[in-house]
Amino acid sequence: MPEPESERHSSGAVDFDVIVVGAGFAGMYMLHRLRGLGFSARVLEAGSGVGGTWYWNRYPGARCDIESMQYSYQFSDELQQEWEWTERYAAQPEILKYANHVADRFDLRRDIEFDSRVRSAVYDDRAGRWTLGTDSGKRYSASYCVMATGCLSSPNKPRLPGMERFKGPTYHTGEWPHESVDFTGKRVAVIGTGSSAIQSIPIIAEQAEHLVVFQRTPNYAIPAHNAPLDPEYQRDFKAHYAEFRARAKQMPTGVAFDYRDVSALEATPEERQEEYEKRWARGGLAFLGGFRDLLFVKAANDTAAEFVRAKIREKVNDPEVAELLCPTNVIGCKRLCVDIGYYETYNRPNVTLIDVSREPVEEITANGVRAGGEEHEVDAIVFATGFDAMTGALLKIDIRGRGGLPLAEKWDGGPRTYLGLCSAGFPNLFMITGPGSPSVLTNMIPSIEQHVDWIADCLAYMREHEFAEIEPTIEAENAWVQHVNDVADLSLRSTCSSWYIGANVPGKPRVFMPYIGGFPAYVKKCEEVAAEGYAGFNVAAGRAAAE
Ligand code: NAP
Repeated sequence: MPEPESERHSSGAVDFDVIVVGAGFAGMYMLHRLRGLGFSARVLEAGSGVGGTWYWNRYPGARCDIESMQYSYQFSDELQQEWEWTERYAAQPEILKYANHVADRFDLRRDIEFDSRVRSAVYDDRAGRWTLGTDSGKRYSASYCVMATGCLSSPNKPRLPGMERFKGPTYHTGEWPHESVDFTGKRVAVIGTGSSAIQSIPIIAEQAEHLVVFQRTPNYAIPAHNAPLDPEYQRDFKAHYAEFRARAKQMPTGVAFDYRDVSALEATPEERQEEYEKRWARGGLAFLGGFRDLLFVKAANDTAAEFVRAKIREKVNDPEVAELLCPTNVIGCKRLCVDIGYYETYNRPNVTLIDVSREPVEEITANGVRAGGEEHEVDAIVFATGFDAMTGALLKIDIRGRGGLPLAEKWDGGPRTYLGLCSAGFPNLFMITGPGSPSVLTNMIPSIEQHVDWIADCLAYMREHEFAEIEPTIEAENAWVQHVNDVADLSLRSTCSSWYIGANVPGKPRVFMPYIGGFPAYVKKCEEVAAEGYAGFNVAAGRAAAE
């Protein structure tokens, strides 16, 4: 009897048509599509379970900032009809439960190898195959490799002097322990005030004896107004799911919300105030959808920023603390945060805010954190310091393309891709929501589905036409990188030190990584490329097949 496709071995490696790295929402759907097309596939996942970002980010208060009814798969209507969300914004445990439900419902686990961190991926020009190695020493070979490694999955831990001296436990929000962490009666430090910190600080403050927050840059947060989902609302939403999804796809962010094509500067101060109040009362990221120029014209942006600063001053009792919490940069330049009682937390007597904008955290001591010449004694430290975003997870893997070219070398000056899907010199390697695609500026799950469908169609096309190798041309890639930069320059989002431009990781090249031209324009471009027989790609029989 012939060996099944997935069990063939060559030179010690297990052979497949496709290896997918990562079993988050991207890897799971990729596997489902590959199976449907009859490809043999294996998913290699570093964690012990599915869920990706929602598997790792178990910090207190972790919750999605996209509303539950939209932060979900749409590839299966049965799935989206049967799944019941309980809250307007789903908390991490519920999203992880959803991920597990999907894995069970589509019987995905039998093709996922857990606890398998991929360390290397090397392309063999002659054989036209990728060989991947894991930390357990296993090797896998495949015609195609799909990196579903996530955009915010490589934790950024500051290298502070004395880290090893600290006597208590330390945590990073993106690698939170699986067992519950109880800060009751403890003195706790939180370093960072991004989305993760803004969600966890109110909860840690309720538990801790004392909480010290070290803030380098204040952030804008809009209230979530989270609430249980009204069953009536959910039923109605589900009855019109297709319409909502179609509407969402027409929005730059891929999220269906109320966006107004009106200039903030042409509105009167009263009209602006009314609009901002309405959106503040509704809550969430749609706050910035009130006027079309908020992310493009500084004077327009200032009006929204000042509105939020006024709200912070209203909420925080101590005027000095309120001023420290008021951001001065462009609102929406760094990712807008969505909070539940964040600013009010600073009215608690057990919470202290330390400004480290001028004098950075100097060192970690045996007993705490030293900043501004003062030692703050704590029992535990939480690093809410974010991620080496978009490129971190890819470059952690030793990826080598044609002629042994390391991806890290090619991306030395910043990531270079065609459509955020592929990179010249790395044939048959795909990225899901890679740098150069809208990804983090959109609703991630629909963006993931769009990429997965594009890749699945591409692989089917390759098989149908008996092609073996696909790789972007350097001309198409250069033109796309130029376009990504050009549109980034039009937006105020490229003007501050955010993780979008790699500014949070010392030494990282400063390049605006996601594509800011909007979801609809991007999808149109991807569809045109495919319709034109993969325009901008060299598609070939492959050297091995040609010989
Ligand atoms: P982040 O936005 O990058 O925030 C990291 C914070 O740590 C910043 O305040 C940063 O200050 C600070 N920091 C870093 N190194 C520091 C140092 N050496 N000393 C002092 N402060 C330091 O990371 P994040 O909060 O984990 O969020 C990352 C992204 O994940 C978000 O933007 C969002 O896209 C996503 N996320 C989403 C949700 C949600 O759906 N609700 C929740 C969490 C995260 P600077 O600003 O000065 O660099």
